[in-house]
Amino acid sequence: MKIAVLPGDGIGPEIVAQAVKVLDRLQADGLKIEMEYAPIGGAGYEAAGDPLPEATLKLSQAADAVLLGAVGDWKYDSLPRDQRPERGLLRIRKALNLFANLRPALLYPELASASTLKPEVVAGLDLMIVRELTGDIYFGQPRGIATLENGEREGINTMRYNESEIRRIGRVAFDIAMKRNKKVCSIDKANVLETTELWRQVMVELAKDYPEVELSHMYVDNAAMQLVRAPRQFDVMVTENMFGDILSDCAAMLTGSIGMLPSASLDANNKGMYEPSHGSAPDIAGKDVANPLATILSVAMMFKYSFNDAATFNRIDHAVKKVIAAGYRTADIWTEGTSKVSCSGMGDAVVAAL
Ligand code: NAD
Repeated sequence: MKIAVLPGDGIGPEIVAQAVKVLDRLQADGLKIEMEYAPIGGAGYEAAGDPLPEATLKLSQAADAVLLGAVGDWKYDSLPRDQRPERGLLRIRKALNLFANLRPALLYPELASASTLKPEVVAGLDLMIVRELTGDIYFGQPRGIATLENGEREGINTMRYNESEIRRIGRVAFDIAMKRNKKVCSIDKANVLETTELWRQVMVELAKDYPEVELSHMYVDNAAMQLVRAPRQFDVMVTENMFGDILSDCAAMLTGSIGMLPSASLDANNKGMYEPSHGSAPDIAGKDVANPLATILSVAMMFKYSFNDAATFNRIDHAVKKVIAAGYRTADIWTEGTSKVSCSGMGDAVVAAL
């Protein structure tokens, strides 16, 4: 298993180091894992003047899976847009054709009180957000900031999807639902946006291939409200790029902290990039306080989705559950009566539990 390791910026290197400890431990137990590092984001810009250096892309293309920390730092905000860290992330997703982003939001019972919502609202939460990742307004052309004839500036982005892009992400969602509770809620804004009117039509057509799955539709504004009102009504939510970006952060808070949320981004052959759902958290970078569990759980997803190794997925998953049950908490999920640990302390605890 060849893994390209791209730590990135901010807390990226700290959290990835904990995930690598887990991989080292699995390797010591006999799994054949090769890891090679490369810079991305601000680190890529510093190393090669490009947020996605050619060598990083080549390494990632040759690997069986990519482990990514996070990219971004405020100090790069004044760079031209195509040199900013976040462009590196968008470009690697596009170059590897990672169109399906899976973001499970699962509440560990012991963390119910770490959520800002009432425990009875979030208890038992287990939902999967399937987000389209390579289309929509984040990639659509034309885009830019133009100057009009009267000298006023105008910002332009273009929301667009073709039906094959919608169908392939829809299929991923229906396939996942078949292995879960057989419910798909498709999120759109079909009342005002033609792009998502087409989205809804394609989902309805696709549902005919999955008679066992119950398909429902919800407007994105209502979905945001329902996620905090009654999140357990959802099993699989499928949505386009921008809505998914926003709703998955909202879902993160249901679980107590964005530091708990892993993600997998897959191509059509299940090659994937695995990264926490959060960003580079420059406010806490370098302090050894970040929560590494989202990154460690992303490694677990790597075994499930790219390496087809359910046993290793379960092993990592159980180790994390054990550590939470034993009361270890990083600052973001700490509550009275539990033991506060650092980022590296949490990594060590998971390795010990493995
Ligand atoms: P963020 O996710 O980095 O941070 C939001 C808040 O959550 C911060 O208070 C942060 O301290 C906290 N947080 C995030 N991860 C945490 C963890 N593991 N443990 C504990 N607390 C954690 O989002 P932001 O502040 O909006 O963005 C910061 C930078 O990250 C920006 O440059 C942005 O573009 C970038 N970003 C990158 C990604 C990515 O790499 N996938 C995603 C989102 C934002």
